[in-house]
Amino acid sequence: MKYDPKSSHAEEFISHEEIEETLAYGEANRANRALIDEILAKARERKGLSHREAMVLLDCSLEDKNQEIFELAEQIKKDFYGNRIVLFAPLYLSNYCINGCVYCPYHAKNKHIPRKKLTQEEIRREVIALQDMGHKRLALETGEDPVHNPIEYLLESIDTIYNIKHKNGAIRRVNVNIAATTVENYRKLKDAGIGTYILFQDTCQKESHKKMHPTGPKSDYDYHTEAMDRAQTGGIDDVGMGVLFGLELYRYEFAGLLMHAEHLEAVFGVGPHTISVPRIRRADDIDPDVFDNGIDDDTFAKLVACIRIAVPYTGMILSTRENKKTRERVLHLGISQISGGSRTSVGGYYEPEPEEECSAQFDVSDNRTLDEVVNWLMGMGYIPSFCTACYREGRTGDRFMSLCKSGQIQNCCHPNALMTLKEYLVDYGSEGTKRIGEALIEKEIGNIPKEKVRQIVRENLAKIEQGVRDFRF
Ligand code: SF4
Ligand code: SF4
Repeated sequence: MKYDPKSSHAEEFISHEEIEETLAYGEANRANRALIDEILAKARERKGLSHREAMVLLDCSLEDKNQEIFELAEQIKKDFYGNRIVLFAPLYLSNYCINGCVYCPYHAKNKHIPRKKLTQEEIRREVIALQDMGHKRLALETGEDPVHNPIEYLLESIDTIYNIKHKNGAIRRVNVNIAATTVENYRKLKDAGIGTYILFQDTCQKESHKKMHPTGPKSDYDYHTEAMDRAQTGGIDDVGMGVLFGLELYRYEFAGLLMHAEHLEAVFGVGPHTISVPRIRRADDIDPDVFDNGIDDDTFAKLVACIRIAVPYTGMILSTRENKKTRERVLHLGISQISGGSRTSVGGYYEPEPEEECSAQFDVSDNRTLDEVVNWLMGMGYIPSFCTACYREGRTGDRFMSLCKSGQIQNCCHPNALMTLKEYLVDYGSEGTKRIGEALIEKEIGNIPKEKVRQIVRENLAKIEQGVRDFRF
């Protein structure tokens, strides 16, 4: 199929032939020092790379150049995201699902996993538990099931979540990760005030997609792959994508993912808001070892670095699928958001599930509490941020991207990180975390370039001490 990033057809904007040629191009140039230098020079301009150029860096076999690639990724991360890491938590509303995805225990043929769907009252309980941990940003997850999880259920749940006010807690941004749907439903989600619409491609390879999704609506590769276009048409201009590394050859997925991002940029003038980098994990009846394409930690780090370089304006998300060690290894290479204190079961925040009732989608590798994660991040010099300002200030889509590309967004992110961290420390932080956090805030105020902003932040921090909440730039 002819490659055309502007096409509305999945097979043309993620063209198999173009990916095959890209793989061959990467392979042929893996030790081409002159070309690698040229690509690195372009990447240093911070304007991103094409999928072909990025593939050459991913395939690069020259040790000194690989070192440069990692250093550049780290520098780009610092330039665009500073030392901030935004925190969020997933909230699984329902694991009813009519699809047959072979890598997910919620697949319809799994008859022994407990099927659960939270009532509005249970959602209230879960959200209060999440607020009491300190979370401000959620990612809602449901299986695809028009009977159990119709769009109305999701809309009602979003409304419930935004309206829960408990002590000083508030969920201020609800991102949604649900199956591909219609423009009309995307419009309804937009009207409900969602932040980002997230949908993983899982695999960009059409034949693999068929094998991985033998039954159910998700088996329609084109409908699934063109979902982001429908979301954009429905008015959702912040979309989050990702592939599940381990299903197909990672090089293929890498090229496909970047082509998908290029397509959104070409058609809508704005690339993905976030890219997630999940790796396949063990779960109920899923054994990750049966998938041949698992990637080791070194390859994973290289992938993160190369995505960072190729799409510098796109936030990168790392979930609790990864353990503490891996998280430490890749955070500085480009990750801007992580989950903390997560449960991947339906419910489980208010009260842990008994083992025999386990409804988890995958095993969590990082079991620390949110406070432990906050403490750990600060110990490594990061500022944990609970900021949700942008979409609430109307900074979405191309408006957000132009601020991001000009570097101006930093003037918002940094003070917002300090003020939301302060809220966290005052309301939820343990004594040890508070101590480290207060010192960090004091030090980081000095890194706000404008005196006027510094002064406003100081005033707001004092007001937070007195109980006022929700300051933002
Ligand atoms: S990945 Fe999503 S669509 Fe597939 S079985 Fe799991 S919940 Fe259902
Ligand atoms: S200011 Fe915007 S981009 Fe920066 S952390 Fe907050 S929500 Fe994210």
